[in-house]
Amino acid sequence: MLSFVATSDLAGKLRGKGVYGRSARSESLSVGWVPTNSLITCFDTIGEGPYGSFGDLVLAGDPEAACRVPGGPGMPETGLMLGDISYLDGRPFECCPRSMLKAAIARLQQVSGLDVIAAFEHEFLIEGLNRGPGDSFTHAGFCALAPFGADLGGAMEAAGIVPELLIREFGPDQAEVTMSPKPALRAADEAVLLRALTQTVAQRHGLRASFTPLVAPGAVGNGVHVHLSLRHPDGTPASYDANGPGGLSAPAGAMVAGLLRHLLEIQALLAPSVISYARLVPNRWSSAFNNLGIRDREAAVRICSVDATDPEIASRFNWEVRPVDAAASPYLVMAALLHAMAQGVEDGFPPPVPTNADLSELDSARLAALGVERLPDSLPAALGRLSRSDTVAKWFGDTFVTVYRGHKVSEIAHVDEISEDDMFALYRASY
Ligand code: GLU
Ligand code: MG
Repeated sequence: MLSFVATSDLAGKLRGKGVYGRSARSESLSVGWVPTNSLITCFDTIGEGPYGSFGDLVLAGDPEAACRVPGGPGMPETGLMLGDISYLDGRPFECCPRSMLKAAIARLQQVSGLDVIAAFEHEFLIEGLNRGPGDSFTHAGFCALAPFGADLGGAMEAAGIVPELLIREFGPDQAEVTMSPKPALRAADEAVLLRALTQTVAQRHGLRASFTPLVAPGAVGNGVHVHLSLRHPDGTPASYDANGPGGLSAPAGAMVAGLLRHLLEIQALLAPSVISYARLVPNRWSSAFNNLGIRDREAAVRICSVDATDPEIASRFNWEVRPVDAAASPYLVMAALLHAMAQGVEDGFPPPVPTNADLSELDSARLAALGVERLPDSLPAALGRLSRSDTVAKWFGDTFVTVYRGHKVSEIAHVDEISEDDMFALYRASY
């Protein structure tokens, strides 16, 4: 069987090498890798970085993060195995997203004694159904999606993912798939697997899936919403306290405060394309400020379940991070969120106060009084915040920040001189 051993890299791309002959899943598959691959952008340009032609790495697949990618007419079944990149002596490579997530998980565990449970919700486009307007959330729209959706659900189950919802979302050709929460590393692995399965299953149905953040300025965005909650090591829930602000327990409050405090510095990792910032504007149900909200789909962090009469509330209670999209590697997203949460605990931040207004209508003095800021309004602005952050450099190391910056500068340059239509089309094709 032909298998693909891969990382979800700095471009949020599934990149790796095919290996002949052995079945993915049972044994680990490894391939050679080079540091400069981290600088390959979503447009196949290479950013400037410190590595050049030097260095040898190993990309070693983890059999726990593997699945079969279903075949179809003219296309064989293949294996897919996600893995970690390390130096030949076994040290993790400083730009390996999955290793960076493992370090963040360990840090959060160490500072709080708690584990994170997470689930990624993905919105995307399914192109080729040739439906007119009128399908949003309808049964007819659902039926049009169902042949693809049923096969995708089967492929997810075979991959060990528990599918939950298939939604014919609001935008033209827009769909959403959700899955059950899992421990943070597995949740990120599943997000990576889901994107690959969605694209291949769509192809088998003569369709094309695109996870582009946005198809045109003013269009409906494709968001990735990351749901988070906490567990004690014995598995009991740790996020909820009926008396906490918005229902947040003390550790959850400090973690959400850390998230909001550092959100502007990590925004370039969560929504990392040039077009991502046309989605992150007010009144688009995405989020545009670093605020906490309850039942507010404009909030950067939204508390999801606050029905105090629900007997299961402690285990259902979770918050969702909304200014994220699928141009980002799920590993880097989760690593950044967990470090920001750990920082909130380490620094003993008080829990944030939920906002309760349309923030786009408030002037800067009122925003400042609420302790809320506008998110960066462009990728260069977000990249500036990231590059200048001593905190982020402390979490991820100077080399990673330099490489990420070089990578994104090359991506920005690639679309700098072209028309807006062409830029949106390039991203749509790339993701
Ligand atoms: N499409 C919206 C976004 O860009 C999200 C809509 C929803 O709340 O599901 O994030
Ligand atoms: Mg949605």
